[in-house]
Amino acid sequence: MKKIIIANWKMAPASLKEAVSFLAKIGEYLKRNKSGSEIVIAPPYVYLESLISASAAAKGYGGLRFASQNVFWEEKGAFTGEISPKMLKNLGANYAIIGHSERRKYAAETDEMINKKVIAALNEGLKAVLCVGEPLEVRKKGKKAAMNFVKNQLQKDLKGIKKLSIVGRGLLVIAYEPVWSISTSGTGLVCSPDDALEMIKYIKKLLTTNYQLLTPRVLYGGSVDSQNIQGFLKHNEIDGALVGGASINAKEFKKIVELTI
Ligand code: PEP
Repeated sequence: MKKIIIANWKMAPASLKEAVSFLAKIGEYLKRNKSGSEIVIAPPYVYLESLISASAAAKGYGGLRFASQNVFWEEKGAFTGEISPKMLKNLGANYAIIGHSERRKYAAETDEMINKKVIAALNEGLKAVLCVGEPLEVRKKGKKAAMNFVKNQLQKDLKGIKKLSIVGRGLLVIAYEPVWSISTSGTGLVCSPDDALEMIKYIKKLLTTNYQLLTPRVLYGGSVDSQNIQGFLKHNEIDGALVGGASINAKEFKKIVELTI
């Protein structure tokens, strides 16, 4: 089963030299990838161009792809500090992570902003990885409350996408990331593969019935590491993982890749 593993490096490493050396370690390993699974690196913006060039020079390292950790909704203009989907596409990026819970929290991103970003990315042909997931106080109220929360997020974040001609083009990927399960959330809790599977099946049902997406891909994210990844990936319905903390440790991420390809 082909999976997608996205390495969200967040705000690390501190230098381009470290980023390039990390890429080389993972890349060499990826040359063995005959599985069709995609390994996607999402570095800070400032390293994207160099890493994409290094990967191209190494003939693509066997299925390596690149993602940004954010994107803006406008194509060009007076938007200081922002990066457009077109710029990312022109650079050779394949995916854009949108609506990560850390951006919702620290950059005050609203569902309305996230919706505009998803639409802008898709219109440009950039694959959107939309992150959704409930906070701890909602999960404590039970599964039904968690499902309603995620349904509501999807409704707002995907508003209007039925009008886009993206059906069947595989441009939209959803990452179910329960906020309380993210390694830095401070809860110490990790979502079980069974609970992740239940929510992912629910999300897939919503996507096919409400948005006519025929083959939606839904990933799981939250404290995934080399010890627990197989518990998630063994399920056909879980199309891969979004990995944060464990993806910036080369040894650990190599093991994750090894278990995937
Ligand atoms: C994330 O931030 O997307 C994430 C899943 O982080 P971690 O793997 O560290 O929980």
